[in-house]
Amino acid sequence: MSDCIFCKIVNGEIPSETVYNGPHVTAFRDINPVAPVHVLIVPNRHIDDIRDPRAFEDDILTEMFDAANKVAEMEGVAGSGYRLLINYGPDANLVVPHLHLHLIGGRPLGPMVSRRK
Ligand code: 5GP
Ligand code: ZN
Repeated sequence: MSDCIFCKIVNGEIPSETVYNGPHVTAFRDINPVAPVHVLIVPNRHIDDIRDPRAFEDDILTEMFDAANKVAEMEGVAGSGYRLLINYGPDANLVVPHLHLHLIGGRPLGPMVSRRK
């Protein structure tokens, strides 16, 4: 999609620090990391989000999670642990409408969701 920031990253139009390339997915460092390891794993073709039926074609999700396992090894967090996260919709604060899996680790991450104060 021409105006999609992650499509531009995949196509090399916007620079990013790529950490892994698979046949149909790319993994690159988040520009605003929340932990020492914060990598985004995206399909190379544009898919809007996790509710987009195209996410369930051609083993895209399988490849994304397989890439996550590899990235975790490469980033040295496979032993210490990490969190895999997919946001959807306003309550989850989805910002970039190109399917992506966050891989976050490198420090204790605390509870899965912060409790309302
Ligand atoms: P979301 O809230 O949509 O699940 O997360 C989008 C993520 O994309 C955010 O963590 C944000 O920091 C990251 N991001 C937004 N723009 C860019 C960019 O241009 N380059 C990189 N590497 N990450 C980005
Ligand atoms: Zn896109």
